[in-house]
Amino acid sequence: MSQIQKIPATVITGFLGAGKTSLIRHLLATANGRRLALIINEFGDMGVDGEVLKACGDEACREDDIVELANGCICCTVADDFLPTIEALLARPEPPDHIVIETSGLALPKPLVRAFSWPEVRTRVTVDGVIAVVDAAAVADGQFASDPAAVQAQREADEALDHDSPLAEVFEDQIQCADMVLVNKADLLDPPALARLTEDLSGQIRANIKVVPAQHGTVDADIVLGLDAGAETDLDARPSHHDGVDDHDHDDFESFQIALPEFAEPGPLAARLAAVLDAPGVLRVKGFAAIAGKDMRLVVQGVGDRLQHYFDRDWRPEENRIGRLVVIGLKGLDQDAITAAVAA
Ligand SMILES: [Zn+2]
Repeated sequence: MSQIQKIPATVITGFLGAGKTSLIRHLLATANGRRLALIINEFGDMGVDGEVLKACGDEACREDDIVELANGCICCTVADDFLPTIEALLARPEPPDHIVIETSGLALPKPLVRAFSWPEVRTRVTVDGVIAVVDAAAVADGQFASDPAAVQAQREADEALDHDSPLAEVFEDQIQCADMVLVNKADLLDPPALARLTEDLSGQIRANIKVVPAQHGTVDADIVLGLDAGAETDLDARPSHHDGVDDHDHDDFESFQIALPEFAEPGPLAARLAAVLDAPGVLRVKGFAAIAGKDMRLVVQGVGDRLQHYFDRDWRPEENRIGRLVVIGLKGLDQDAITAAVAA
């Protein structure tokens, strides 16, 4: 049996107005037959980026390959929004060849990359690279974004945002996590100023990371995609102002299984699972159970405050009607207490 090849995912960070959408349009135009799925979290203009991309008319870009995450900063809504989206992409009959994620301008890349260690994602997807798009003229001016007022408005509009760091820190987090830094709008600087900026940026980022000048985001897919960085495996090498701060630096995830006894009916099981979802650190439950008098098994799955259950198929003779539940959460789950609450 050969190993399933992991789907590469590219994370594109950078402030509002830096040119992330232009870059993505250019990636679509130069994808060369690769089928890209886009996850768009730049909601500063309320869905405008997604509309622009959907309207691009490019054959490589089918409408259902574009998913908008408009519920707030992607790094702050990882468990509720981002992970279910990735899982849905993976569950498609024809999964994409490459996933491109445009983060909101204020998002911190590291917590997002860390999410790729989620148990059901890490075996199927790898972070091919983190691309930081910077606005050459703004950064040369010490502004970071061309329109700081728009960035501030974005911050105020985002109720999910739970990090209130100065722009300079967000900027440094973005470039220090990067596998490539694109200096967009390079044509707005004269050559000496561009050289100074490139040198200055090179001094702030990890060793051997390329700083690439660009105009209007026109860097080809062959340059940006396929870096094969495996970013989720070397997070410790990517410094961040938010390391050790507990709003973003969750420890790794863990999961464990519980054998489920037969239940008289679905309701009481669902009530127990709802309580488990409320327990500290629990992010997800899924599995199946036997219900007395039913030939079919009951599938249960829950995330956040949403719990579903339905019968999917008959039990097979060799399964002996033994139910099983997988509980996924942040490291340090109280496994004994959760097991007792479900199966007692
Ligand atoms: Zn965030």
